[in-house]
Order: sequence, then C-alpha cells, then structure tokens
Amino acid sequence: MGRYSRTMPKRIIILGSTGSIGRSALEVVAARPNELKIVGLAARNRWEDLAQQAKQFAVPRIALADLTHLDAIKGALPPQTRVFAGNDGLVELVASTEADFVLAAIVGAAGLPPTLAAVERGLDVGLANKESLVVAGAILMPLARERGGALIPVDSEHSAVFQAMACGRAEEVRRIYLTTSGGPFRTWSRERIARAGLKEALNHPTWSMGPKITIDSATMMNKALEIIEAHHLFDVEVDQIEVLVHPESIVHSMVEFKDGSVIAQLGTPDMKTPIQYAMTFPRRVSGISEPLSWSKARSLSFEPPDMERFPALRLGFEAARMGGSAGAVLNAANEVAVQRFRDGRIAFGRISEIAEDVLQRHTRMAQPTLAELFEADAWARNEVDGCL
Ligand code: NDP
Ligand code: MG
Repeated sequence: MGRYSRTMPKRIIILGSTGSIGRSALEVVAARPNELKIVGLAARNRWEDLAQQAKQFAVPRIALADLTHLDAIKGALPPQTRVFAGNDGLVELVASTEADFVLAAIVGAAGLPPTLAAVERGLDVGLANKESLVVAGAILMPLARERGGALIPVDSEHSAVFQAMACGRAEEVRRIYLTTSGGPFRTWSRERIARAGLKEALNHPTWSMGPKITIDSATMMNKALEIIEAHHLFDVEVDQIEVLVHPESIVHSMVEFKDGSVIAQLGTPDMKTPIQYAMTFPRRVSGISEPLSWSKARSLSFEPPDMERFPALRLGFEAARMGGSAGAVLNAANEVAVQRFRDGRIAFGRISEIAEDVLQRHTRMAQPTLAELFEADAWARNEVDGCL
C-alpha cells in the first residue's frame, strides 16, 4: 500500500465512463460534488453518452478510443474541451492530466495501457479492470510499489478482501475465500449449460453488469480471472485462495487469519459501494447504495464450487499457478471466445473449451516483458479462430 491522495476535491479520471461501472461511478461523484471532481473521461465509441457526461460534469479533457466519431464528438462539446483520440489518446489523457485518482473501468485487456500509465505516474488507481492484473500483475504490482500510488480494488470480492485484510497483518492471513453467486447456471447440468443461449447467459441472478463480465459470470471465467487478480493484489499463494458459491451475493468475500478468525465484508450487491470506498479511501462516507436490511429473516448459504460443470474455474487456478504469460493467454482467448459466442458463432460450452485449448497450446514464458505479454495476447486472439 502506497501513499494515497488526500487532496480536496479529489481530481478523478474515469476510464470507461460510458459502461456499467463508469456510470455508477458518476452517480457516486454526483452525490459528493464538493469532494470528488471529474477532470477526465474516456470511452471507446459511445460518443453521444460521453459528450453528455462531459457536459453534465463540466469535464475539461476527454478521450475517445474509436476514431470514427471524433469529429462528431468535437462538434458536440464546448470548443475549450481537449479531446484525445485513439488508443494512444487514452494513455496521453492519463499521462498529461492533473489528477489524483484514476478509475480503471475499461473492459478487457484494452484497459491495460492507460492503467499502466496511471500507475507509472504514481497516481492512486481504483481498479475495476481486473484484466490488467490478469495480464500483467507481475509487472503492475511492483511498479505501483515503486511509484507509490495506491492500487485499490473495485471488484466487489477484492474490495471485501482489501477491507478484511485491515484486521490483521499480511503474514497472518491463512486463506482468502472469494465468493460467487454461481451465476445463472448454478443449478444446471453440464449438457444444458453447453447449449445455453445468449439471453440466458446475460440473465445474471444478482448483479447488473456489462455484457462481457456477465457472460464471464455464467461460465465462471470471471471467478477464474479473480483468482489470478487476488493472487497478484494480495501477494498470496494460489493454494491460499478458495472459491465459495454464495447465491445471495451478500457476503462479498472473506479472509481467514491464522488464529481461525474469519473476517467478512457484507452489503447489498451494488457496485456503487466498492466504487465509493475506492474513491474516498481511506475515509468512509455516507453511501448512496441501499443498505442491507435485517428486518426480515434472511438466510445466507454457501456451497463448494463444481469444477466439472464449470471448467473455467479449474483453468483459473491452473493459469494462476503457471504464472508468467498464462494469464494473458487465458484472458485473451476468453475475450475472443466470448465475442464469438455473442456473435452467435459458437455454443456457450465452447467458450471454456477454447480457452483451455489455447492455454494448452501456448508455450509459457516465465518472466515476460510487457512487450512479450502483448505478443502472447495477440497470439492467443489469433489462435482462437483456429479452434472454431
Ligand atoms: P461495460 O461493457 O459496461 O463498459 C466498458 C467500458 O469500457 C465502456 O465505457 C466502453 O466504452 C469502454 N471500452 C471498451 N473497450 C475500450 C477500448 N478499447 N478503449 C477505451 N474504452 C473502451 O463493462 P463493465 O462496466 O461491466 O466492466 C468494466 C470493467 O470492470 C471490466 O474489467 C469488468 O471486469 C470490471 N468489473 C465490472 C463489474 C460490474 O459490475 N460491471 C464488477 C466488477 C468488475 P464504450 O461504451 O464507448 O464502448
Ligand atoms: Mg467480482
């Protein structure tokens, strides 16, 4: 844990502001106008939403990754707004804007370069984009320590672990329990899961999220990525991480300490809570999420995960143990396979199979450079179509 910014108002850049996390983050900011101020926003192609957000929050600098609508967005914004363009534009926005905190909420490995730029500058980063750590955790974590910015998890499980960790010292941790709702197919047979349709995969029982992570939750690849994320973030051995199915999504994760005490963080399933926690850390302020109600009887249940029906979970443990370039390859293969499923080109059950095939065909690099990780990512993306 590095220094963290106490500047008021905290100057915030949101990468991926038009997405599910990005929009929730703007709601959090809108509720605390004296403490949180948006100085930069970035998205890929939903330019009308981005322009509307920029106007509503009087944001001086924005970036649009997709160049198609560049002229359109410039025309829609006040002339003094600085508009950065393309993938490099996102990095430039982060590298050149006076800011204290960057919310990394782009989906996929595309989020890595601007996240890296924030870490390089020593800015505090609220990390929703777990793929950054899955791809390059071994590079990002030491860099963050060296540059002094804090990396505060936004992913609900990791936010819970981060909070529970404060109850002891790192060397006193015995185990981390990452909880999962089990997704929409928790009770389905393997055969039925294999043939699941897009609508069914997008119908998450407890969380409302963007489409990619919602499908990852249905395969449980999301939990696989989170195992790798936790391994890097908390510097724990893979064998210290366990997954627990908890259909109610109230206990967001738990840490077991050496003395047998288990510390959990609970709350309603609403990402505004961990987003706000990351933005206002180390303070806790009044939240805008609905608090948990205990006025009615409620039961919380837990069950072990089924790696036969959800092979992605096993892949997550395997890739975390392999380390090196394995995370980048697993993530890239999954991103493309999910897209192929969304395009109606492969069956749901093929997503995890393809990710496994590509991971098996990959010759792992033990200590890849950043350039080698990008190469491994590109190789894996290309390899997926050979599996179709
Ligand atoms: P969404 O799909 O809802 O939003 C993605 C955002 O990223 C959009 O703003 C999108 O812009 C932008 N984006 C996508 N690709 C690029 C690119 N190449 N360059 C620049 N911007 C890009 O995703 P979510 O909000 O659901 O998820 C964001 C991240 O947070 C993911 O890593 C996810 O795993 C993580 N997360 C999400 C949770 C949730 O509740 N949603 C919970 C925990 C983690 P545009 O709209 O223009 O396409
Ligand atoms: Mg999560």
